[in-house]
Amino acid sequence: MTDASARGHNAPCSNRDFDFFYRGLEDERLLVQRCARCNQLRSLPSPGCESCGSLDWEPLPLAGEGEVYSYVTHYHPPLPGFAAPHPMALVTMDEGVRLLGAMDGTDPADVAIGRRVRVEFVRRENVAAFRFRNL
Ligand SMILES: [Zn+2]
Repeated sequence: MTDASARGHNAPCSNRDFDFFYRGLEDERLLVQRCARCNQLRSLPSPGCESCGSLDWEPLPLAGEGEVYSYVTHYHPPLPGFAAPHPMALVTMDEGVRLLGAMDGTDPADVAIGRRVRVEFVRRENVAAFRFRNL
């Protein structure tokens, strides 16, 4: 990873908790952490398990489908690489962990709690990213 300020607005911050996630996006894989002791999944990434306190974990690729748990529509400020307005959804993935992701490219009127969605890998300002699309 390189300094985010040299890579544009959408560049991820680099640190040892998040780097695996962004490397996964480069390979079009959506990775979360799985505790090596108790198998708890977690997202956002963190150094330790909230359930058992273990610092050992391994990356787990998600299948990429889930259900909208909640959402908002982003209107302002304008964000490079995003149309406005665009939905942002908190999605319960089929594996049980929740991820927040953009749903740009989807009409906000077509987003609904409980609706099935699938991950789509995109590039924003040449940075690997993901968004959710309705199934
Ligand atoms: Zn654990």
